[in-house]
Amino acid sequence: MAGPRDPIADLRRIAFLLERANEATYRVRAFRSAAKALAGLPADEVAARAGNGTLTELAGVGDVTARCVAESLAGEEPVYLRRLVATEGSDLDAEATALRTALRGDCHTHSDWSDGGSPIEEMALAAVELGHEYVVLTDHSPRLTVARGLTAERLRRQLDYVAQVNAALPEGFRILTGIEVDILADGSLDQDEDLLARLDVVVGSVHSGLKDERSKMTRRMVTAVANPHLDILGHVTGRMVSSRPAGVTGPGDRGHRARTRAESDFDPDAVFAACAEHDTAVEINSRPERQDPPKRLIRRALEAGCRFAIDTDAHAPGQLDWQRFGCERAALCGVPADRVVNTWSAEQLVAWTHSRA
Ligand SMILES: [Zn+2]
Ligand SMILES: [Zn+2]
Repeated sequence: MAGPRDPIADLRRIAFLLERANEATYRVRAFRSAAKALAGLPADEVAARAGNGTLTELAGVGDVTARCVAESLAGEEPVYLRRLVATEGSDLDAEATALRTALRGDCHTHSDWSDGGSPIEEMALAAVELGHEYVVLTDHSPRLTVARGLTAERLRRQLDYVAQVNAALPEGFRILTGIEVDILADGSLDQDEDLLARLDVVVGSVHSGLKDERSKMTRRMVTAVANPHLDILGHVTGRMVSSRPAGVTGPGDRGHRARTRAESDFDPDAVFAACAEHDTAVEINSRPERQDPPKRLIRRALEAGCRFAIDTDAHAPGQLDWQRFGCERAALCGVPADRVVNTWSAEQLVAWTHSRA
């Protein structure tokens, strides 16, 4: 067992590395403020507070910095620092480009069958032009009525229709069948089991009750992640960091441009441990107004051993090119291509989803 490290030195080192990587000032400041707050206290008080979870009561110390301190005192290099060191000195731009080049498809897209703006054929042709080998069509599920979620009957019709469209598309490209299924309040999935089993890829997302209290939300997400039909956990926190781009509406908007929205509250370690255990991929949602999950959670999921899917959640053909944004965030967190399920061919992807359920 290693002896305790110097938590203040670790916080300062993180601030330095973030600064050198040109990360947002507020983030750098968070680590410097925490270092400063702790420097004014006796070491045994810091240790006692780390032990009983009261570090965050100190001005300048938040959840992330408190966790780093606890890890340092336990003799471990903080996860946050470890990831920064791992990506240090690498050319992030080149890495993001390499990751984008490695992607062979997109696992989360919408058509005008639900709340997308374009027909399935147009989405597919745009994906062909981008060089994709496949695109998974994931329209919404029945309970999301604001987004014209598909009933079981409409989804069955869509499956027949996709088969027709596929027959007319260029060889070497395929629309894979799928759904963005609502994760209901009890963690169950909003579509018939036989349909979920039949689809190539199932993305599951929380769209309602985003303000559920922490333990309830954690239970809800862990239950969904453990469901063998669920392949990818969509936009994990539900946050909105900015207004939607003009002309884009989505679930929960009721026709208005979205405001920002806070992350939902859940225990990320429990959720990501469940994702790793059940081999459910964590989505890195590329939409500029979502940027979900935030980088600190991408790092935690990576550390937990999760797989990822870097998806656009495109509601229009031009948005299929937004994968670059997700790749940049993934590269900043050191996500390697071999952890990303959409670097696989369509055959490998479907073999994976069907081996799960
Ligand atoms: Zn969604
Ligand atoms: Zn979506």
